[in-house]
Amino acid sequence: MASLAIDFGGTQVKFGLIDQDGVVLCASKVDSSANETIAFNLELISRKIRELMASNAINEGNVTSIGIALPSIINSKENIVLSEYVKYTDANTFDFNRWALEEWSVPVILENDARAALVGEWKFGAGKEYANIVLLTLGTGVGSAVLIEGKLFRGTHFIGGNLAGHIAVNISGAPCNCGFVGCLETEASSWALPSIVERLGVKSDIDALALPSLNFFHLFSAADQGNAAAKKVIDHCIKTWAMAAVNVTHMYDPEVIIVSGGIMQRSDDILPLMQDHIDTYSWLSPGSVTVLPAQQVEYAGLLGMSFLSHSIQTT
Ligand SMILES: [Zn+2]
Repeated sequence: MASLAIDFGGTQVKFGLIDQDGVVLCASKVDSSANETIAFNLELISRKIRELMASNAINEGNVTSIGIALPSIINSKENIVLSEYVKYTDANTFDFNRWALEEWSVPVILENDARAALVGEWKFGAGKEYANIVLLTLGTGVGSAVLIEGKLFRGTHFIGGNLAGHIAVNISGAPCNCGFVGCLETEASSWALPSIVERLGVKSDIDALALPSLNFFHLFSAADQGNAAAKKVIDHCIKTWAMAAVNVTHMYDPEVIIVSGGIMQRSDDILPLMQDHIDTYSWLSPGSVTVLPAQQVEYAGLLGMSFLSHSIQTT
């Protein structure tokens, strides 16, 4: 008995077969064909997973459910994509239930990718001991999800806990890609770095570094080599994430905040200030909330979707 888990990201799609105990039986990933339809992508992934299963001598009859994570707002009761995400453009009109029954003869469950990653960390990673968790994913944008008393918080319209990246932190901030102003993402995410660099007055210094692209890894390595402009940008972003940690503490009162994303390779540079801000500025006594790095770096989303899809068979 295994779940077929699929995690659609902005640039890659991960997929794998996972048993009820969270053991990854086989897994792989492909570059996403994000300009193609979701049907095209699912057909491609179905073919790849069948090849993967054949090479691991796993019979198709072992697949008893499917879990799909998408970078979108998801009505997980009816398996409908609510947001018109720029990638996989027809996902919001696609009938996932019908696809799963026709293609694999099993039920499917859909969930937002940050919620999937949170469940993966809760059941199999850094959140195992806890029932009240906020997950923040730092990177291209800022993703988030919330677990309250052992249940995923989804809210009235399914956006509950998902939009920490669009909490305003600067009344005089830059316009966000969501239409709001001064969102957390406009102050501290890699898509906004060109604008952040300009607003901090260090554009010419950063341009002079001739960085291959403006991302946090290049900025961190420039800062390591003593570049003051790169350090200024990084310090600004870390302070903003630390402010966000206080905000989500006040909103959701978690036991832990788990921080994920490729940038956690530099967790020692980022997490201490987030912890310090919570201890200093939240209404709680120091040590009440702990900031932790994610543990399931590669498979949190797949493990989370596997857990959720296994659980639909028992409800
Ligand atoms: Zn926004």
